[in-house]
Amino acid sequence: MEEKNVRCSFCGRDKSEALILIAGIDGHICEVCVEQATDIVKEELFSNKEKEKNKFLLPSNLTPAKIKEYLDEYVIGQDEAKKFLSVAVYNHYKRIGVEAMDDVEIEKSNILFVGRTGTGKTLMAKSIARLLNVPFAIVDATVFTEAGYVGEDVESILSRLLQVCDYNVESAQKGIVYIDEIDKIARKSDNPSITRDVSGEGVQQALLKMLEGTDVNVPPQGGRKHPEQKLIKVNTNDILFICGGAFDGVEKIIARRLNTQVIGYNSKEKDQIDRDNIMQYVTHLDLRQFGLIPELLGRLPVLTFLNPLDQKSLEQILVEPKNAIIKQYKKLFKMEGIDFKITKGAIEFIAGKALEYNLGARGLRSICEAIMTDAMFEIPSQTDLQTFEIDLRYAKEKLNKSKLSQLKVA
Ligand code: ADP
Repeated sequence: MEEKNVRCSFCGRDKSEALILIAGIDGHICEVCVEQATDIVKEELFSNKEKEKNKFLLPSNLTPAKIKEYLDEYVIGQDEAKKFLSVAVYNHYKRIGVEAMDDVEIEKSNILFVGRTGTGKTLMAKSIARLLNVPFAIVDATVFTEAGYVGEDVESILSRLLQVCDYNVESAQKGIVYIDEIDKIARKSDNPSITRDVSGEGVQQALLKMLEGTDVNVPPQGGRKHPEQKLIKVNTNDILFICGGAFDGVEKIIARRLNTQVIGYNSKEKDQIDRDNIMQYVTHLDLRQFGLIPELLGRLPVLTFLNPLDQKSLEQILVEPKNAIIKQYKKLFKMEGIDFKITKGAIEFIAGKALEYNLGARGLRSICEAIMTDAMFEIPSQTDLQTFEIDLRYAKEKLNKSKLSQLKVA
């Protein structure tokens, strides 16, 4: 090809008309066509990205069993709850990943955890959100009141979610919300005709629609709606709600139900009931009697139970999970160039105290802090120290000196 006949292979512009003509193997392209092509590429890629963003895809090799394996790394015990959670989460994200193919609409499976304080309810919800890399917010149901009363509107649940993902609505709409202390908004009596209680049924009613899936106008800063605040519309269809509560006193309801059920059957069946851990038999029916309205319970179809933690589990929690407290201390000391050790006796002592204080695993950290504070204060200035070991005697001595030792056992 002769130099003077060179043209843009895309628009046919002659070399003299183009500012730049870039040569390829078999042709040329002018600057105008380069620019146009760039725009096309950008548009295509961007709109595909947007489409991708709207669809949440579970990692292709993720299965309920893999989800549980992940939870095992962070949460000790609670096998049954982990199983329920893995299946529910798997189905939930499968459900929002598929386009509507036919008339069969898979319903949302929000989850309800029943279990004492410090048994891992929040930890499970948080771990799932980390695994899936979706926005996660924790809210406390006790702060909500019916519209018109002092307190926060339930919409502010979504404000928290928006805040953690920098107000990216698309992202928030695929998030997970953990609503703690859901038992505190229970109606105080099973009798619905009782005078309206401010923090009870009305709040449950307000939560209902949100849990089911609807468009909610959210005040970006949370709190109550102010007329001057611009509201953000969030659809809750694909948000997974996990609710948790200790439901103190529900054991009595369960026991009563079990007793009446068992009467008339042979006594062997009665013996099979584990009286020490009656909470494991919890059903929606019991929670309804406890004071949650049936409509709300209907929106929380997956109900599971967390075991109280025993001495052995508490010991494991101290050392085994990926971010176990003892591992964290080890890391802190390592940064000072010190090898941190703790004896089995000391571990048993700390776990035993946590059990005594009745705070579940929640007590472990405060007990450890009480034991460790002096060391954490003094050791960084002791430059010649290479190892530091906590044994039973040291642990006992430090805890006895602390305010914690005055804690009355409930
Ligand atoms: P709650 O059941 O009251 O929501 P959390 O999940 O907030 O309890 O647990 C409180 C603390 O105890 C957290 O620091 C958590 O790491 C620890 N913890 C509780 N249960 C477990 C468990 N089963 N395995 C590991 N750590 C746990």
